[in-house]
Amino acid sequence: MAQQSDVEKLGSLVRPHRGMINIMPLQTGGLLTEAARRAMVEFGDGYSVCDFCQGRLSDIVNPPVKQFVQELLPEFLGADAATLTYGARDGVFMVLHSLAKPGDTVVVDGNRHYSTAVAAERAGVQLVEVPASVSPEYRIDVELFAQPLRERRPALVILTYPDGRFGNLPDAARLGEIAAEAGVPYLVNGAYAVGRMPVKMSALKADFLVGSGHKSMASAGPSGVLGMKAKWREVVLRPSVLHKNKEMECLGCTIRGVTLATLMASFPEVRERVKHWDEQVAKAQWFSSAMEGLGFALLGEKPHRHDLMRFECTQLFEISQRVRERGYYLYKAFEERGIWGIKPGQTKALELSTFAATREQLEKVIAAFSDILKQYR
Ligand SMILES: *Cc1c(COP(=O)(O)O)cnc(C)c1O
Repeated sequence: MAQQSDVEKLGSLVRPHRGMINIMPLQTGGLLTEAARRAMVEFGDGYSVCDFCQGRLSDIVNPPVKQFVQELLPEFLGADAATLTYGARDGVFMVLHSLAKPGDTVVVDGNRHYSTAVAAERAGVQLVEVPASVSPEYRIDVELFAQPLRERRPALVILTYPDGRFGNLPDAARLGEIAAEAGVPYLVNGAYAVGRMPVKMSALKADFLVGSGHKSMASAGPSGVLGMKAKWREVVLRPSVLHKNKEMECLGCTIRGVTLATLMASFPEVRERVKHWDEQVAKAQWFSSAMEGLGFALLGEKPHRHDLMRFECTQLFEISQRVRERGYYLYKAFEERGIWGIKPGQTKALELSTFAATREQLEKVIAAFSDILKQYR
């Protein structure tokens, strides 16, 4: 039989890890609900939400985008207004680009995501970082923001809450007070928070709250949300001069198809699941204790308050130095055991998320680590 050509292969793509236990931090909060899965098929065609659009995405009544964006999302985010974005980074960029001029400064925490720096670069804005504490905790002390906010007069301050490496949760509400005192607008980057844990912009005294649909809201991507205080609506959501009913910053429209449909379809469950965050934290703490019991060191804050965790795994790295597959042995060993989320080649430090797995599944993960240590001793 003729070999399938490379182009033909594109027509029958498959993913490697169907049915496996997933502990990959990027993926655990974006796994679709059943409702989203159905919406994905129903709204898979391009421009599928636009059947009844009169010119503005956020005014579409069927499907109920209007209710979602104008009522449900602001309420969920603790914001006065909300808008849809392509993801957390786009929310950060929209705000930066709206508030800052090239040459301005933005103050950020030392655990910021790379996309925050790239957004600043694209907007021509200079980044000033407030460093994290030293290893192993990498804590962000928000009191250290007061001086740069006073002295540098930044256009914006951004806090990563939590950061995507350690899952540290700095005192975001206190930074809200510091920012308000300094008169600096304050954005909370909740890519790993919104949709996982309860987080309200108002309680954090923030001007903006950014979330990621595909990271934490059980949605296909790219998709995201941005909440804001009323006074920023006319700044960030300003219309184009030439096209009065089109917003400038998003080039007139944002997510207009299957990603929005999944974001909306998952919303009822997402809104419910954040109420069970304390169970997630308990599960994460139980897991990290078990990992420490095996001799792996948890990095980041202790006690840990998020499902995203980073472990220093010296023993696993040492094994990689003497086995034939080098660093890849670990990925393979986990794949064989039906566990997905170890990055191929990585052993020295591992980032894991306990969000999607049950305790029973996590017991299997712990058993896998234990087995591997014994096998290679
Ligand atoms: C994942 C992540 C992002 C990027 O999210 P997108 O929605 O893919 O743009 C930004 N910031 C933090 C802290 C993240 O963890």
